[in-house]
This record gives sequence, structure tokens and C-alpha cells, in this order.
Amino acid sequence: MSTLGSGEKTKRGNTIMATTNCTICKTQIKGYGHNASPIAKNGTACDKCNASHIVPTRMALMGVSSPLEAASLVASEVHLIKTIYGTEVAA
Ligand SMILES: [Zn+2]
Repeated sequence: MSTLGSGEKTKRGNTIMATTNCTICKTQIKGYGHNASPIAKNGTACDKCNASHIVPTRMALMGVSSPLEAASLVASEVHLIKTIYGTEVAA
């Protein structure tokens, strides 16, 4: 049980962290979360979305994968990116 607010320290010296929700799946993030770029520009992603969406997209964009693999990875994220940004984002 805790009545401490964000930024305050517990008796054991642990700092209470503000809770935030994942920009992608909207679930509450445990811990610090991850930068949601390039799926969402100013968002925070949970561990699951980071592993399943953010990292594969970054790898594809960096050219780590083969061109065909990169194209299919990014294409699979187009729907998700449109969902977050709205339909005006060019694919
Ligand atoms: Zn998530």
C-alpha cells in the first residue's frame, strides 16, 4: 500500500514512478517504457509493443533486414501507424 506520489521516495529509497499508458495498445506501462518512435512520434511503448512493433520497424528502416523483408515488416505496421496518426499519413 502506498500513499506516495510520483517522484517521492519510499522508506526503502525506491522512487515512485508516474504511471503512463502505452501509445500503441493503451495498456499501463510497468517501468520506464520505450520510445515509441517511429510508430508514434511522441509516445511511450510497453515492452510487448516495443518488441513486436517498434524494434522490427526500426531494424527494417535501418536496413538490417533484406529489402524484401524490410518492406514486408514496414507494410505490416502501416495499419497500426494509420490508427495512431489518423488516415492522413502517407503509407
Ligand atoms: Zn503496448
